[in-house]
Amino acid sequence: MYEKIVEYLLSSSYQIAFTGAGMSTGSGISDFRGPNGLWKRYSPEIASADFLRKDPKSFWEFYSVRMRGLFEASANPSHKALAEMERMGLLKWVITQNIDGLHQQGGSRNVIEIHGTMRRSYCSTCFEPYESSEVLKMIDQGQNPPLCKCGGVIRPDVVLFGEPVKEIERALKIASRADLVMAIGTSLTVYPANLVPRTVKENGGRLIIVNMEETPLDEVADEVVRGQVEKVLPEIVEEIKSELGKVR
Ligand SMILES: [Zn+2]
Repeated sequence: MYEKIVEYLLSSSYQIAFTGAGMSTGSGISDFRGPNGLWKRYSPEIASADFLRKDPKSFWEFYSVRMRGLFEASANPSHKALAEMERMGLLKWVITQNIDGLHQQGGSRNVIEIHGTMRRSYCSTCFEPYESSEVLKMIDQGQNPPLCKCGGVIRPDVVLFGEPVKEIERALKIASRADLVMAIGTSLTVYPANLVPRTVKENGGRLIIVNMEETPLDEVADEVVRGQVEKVLPEIVEEIKSELGKVR
């Protein structure tokens, strides 16, 4: 069923994955831009750096809901499938736009979170780090906005609207070494993150897309799978195993 994809994965030497929100919908985490996306219910403005400065209390009223959702979520079969590919030596890096930390929970070790992570927070004045679970406790105890010992407002360690993405240079260096990229659960519309698959393709590498909806890179991709990632990725892993099990 996925012969070509399996063949490409096995014949490449530096495979990476580039993942987005579709990766975590199977874990019950809202897809921002999809039909039931979070931004249909909230204005994106609320997750901006500006909003945090102007109205930290409302920012945290919104953000604490997202964080609580995250702490209830767990890695789904698609996260576990990528972790298994890493252990098989068929995936060097996961570069993710997600801030939920579920790749690591699913067992992946080499993960670059270009939009940061909701699992951690820090003081916007003195940069003291905080566990987000600790910050949620402060809010539960009526301390909103949550404040650092220095008096500064604590913020999540994520890239807010209006802030530059993290580690994009490292991600693009890795992309320029890769000879295969799997773009999974991402609409590939967010700049500059979508430079990752473009870079691999422009350097002559292969692009495999697994996503529910069409993407702007479908026509240049080597393979496109339309489907639920938590179903497709474990199937690909099973096919890799049966291919590796064959006597050659
Ligand atoms: Zn501080």
